[in-house]
Amino acid sequence: MATRRVAVAGAGLAGLSAAVALRRAGWDVEIFERRRLLGGKATSYVVDGIEVDNGQHVFLGCCTEFIDFVTGLGLGDRLHLQDRFAATLLKPGDPPLTLRAATLPPPLHLLPVLLGHRYLPRRSRLEVVWAILAARRDAPPSETFADWLERHHQGELARHWFWDPFLVPALNAPAAEVAANDARFVINTAFGGDRRAACFGFVDVPLARIAETAAERAGPVHLRAGVTGLIERDGAIAGLRLADGAEQDFDAVVLAVPPDALVRILGEPGRFRIVGLDRFKTAPIVDVHLWYVGGTLDFDFAALLDSPIQWVFQKAPGYLCCSLSAAGELTTRPEAELIDLCHQELTRAIPALRSARLEHGAATRDPDATFVPAVGLRRPGPATTYPNLAIAGAWTNTGWPATMESAVRSGRAAARLIMTGGTPHDA
Ligand SMILES: Cc1cc2nc3c(=O)[nH]c(=O)nc-3n(C[C@H](O)[C@H](O)[C@H](O)COP(=O)(O)OP(=O)(O)OC[C@H]3O[C@@H](n4cnc5c(N)ncnc54)[C@H](O)[C@@H]3O)c2cc1C
Repeated sequence: MATRRVAVAGAGLAGLSAAVALRRAGWDVEIFERRRLLGGKATSYVVDGIEVDNGQHVFLGCCTEFIDFVTGLGLGDRLHLQDRFAATLLKPGDPPLTLRAATLPPPLHLLPVLLGHRYLPRRSRLEVVWAILAARRDAPPSETFADWLERHHQGELARHWFWDPFLVPALNAPAAEVAANDARFVINTAFGGDRRAACFGFVDVPLARIAETAAERAGPVHLRAGVTGLIERDGAIAGLRLADGAEQDFDAVVLAVPPDALVRILGEPGRFRIVGLDRFKTAPIVDVHLWYVGGTLDFDFAALLDSPIQWVFQKAPGYLCCSLSAAGELTTRPEAELIDLCHQELTRAIPALRSARLEHGAATRDPDATFVPAVGLRRPGPATTYPNLAIAGAWTNTGWPATMESAVRSGRAAARLIMTGGTPHDA
């Protein structure tokens, strides 16, 4: 039988993981990417002569498909995952506090994390324990996470000093904007999983290396080659149309692009029985990269409490990356203002930096970093009306928030669908 040819639109992690899986199954794969860079939202580029990630990316031990994907690319040794959950919290005026899991069987391993949170009064710690246990029960579909916290008696301090640092970055949106069930998913998956589930992990190479390695394994990549439409023939998808007007025939297509791009390619998504794409809203992330002379810290990363910076990461001695999730209007501030703001916030929280000299800084920002898992949002699965057309993206229905894990899961699901001849979508 002749080798079947598949086109993948979008070279983010969703498209690349679909492409790698299809290539491994013996398909001839070609990737079409609108931009000049590989990796989509998880990429890196050179700023002032230094390659920086477009934003600090963290994964957790529970992100098993992402870990498996990167390991399968031969980059497993570039993943650093904690053996045991530990996170440092910084509150100006107080000594740093490191919350560390115990070597007890789960869920007992997390008791020292919750009960040892000495910035919180004892009552607030018990509130948090109670909420984590309550998260096992379904919430009403119309409930926001903010209402859920209220219903579970989470006071101001528990919210600001426990839930905000962990859940706002995970969902990239404030509690009032996200569905309680999406927040519950994160709580249960990270805090309710095995001992490594909540452990933090990082990639120690610029993110573009993951995308480049995946592309090398998958097949030819066409950069600056936006897909503008599909060719439909004899009741099947027969290929795609490109921005330069060219048309190419393929036996199958995976569209791994964000919802707004998908609408432009499909024209009428309803005809493919994909609905609700106009309900996806995005949220911004700003990262501020600061290079200090003489500013080496004794932790790899830390959460800043009561600050617009949620987490700061020490990427290399003297190089700190501040992550500002759900960044709102900060996205539009001039770069110099963002650098100054983060420098002030860091020196307020980290006395060791006061004697260091800020050499230079840079800001990276993405106004559409992730989608907001809002109440009532319906995320489509990979299937369409055509067995040889699948969709993928961190925003599709993987159950996960818009993360690298969700992207890889969605890409692999789309690849499986294409390999098995697809299951027409009849929802
Ligand atoms: C600053 C920042 C920080 C983040 N931090 C984390 C984190 O700590 N942990 C985590 O797990 N996740 C994080 N994320 C989220 C994560 O990066 C994304 O969820 C994931 O990478 C999305 O992958 P994707 O393939 O679904 O989509 P994308 O990466 O958006 O890929 C879609 C690709 O399709 C291309 N495209 C669009 N239209 C067309 C077209 N017509 N034709 C061809 N190509 C097209 C786009 O250019 C893009 O390359 C972060 C994101 C950002 C922006």
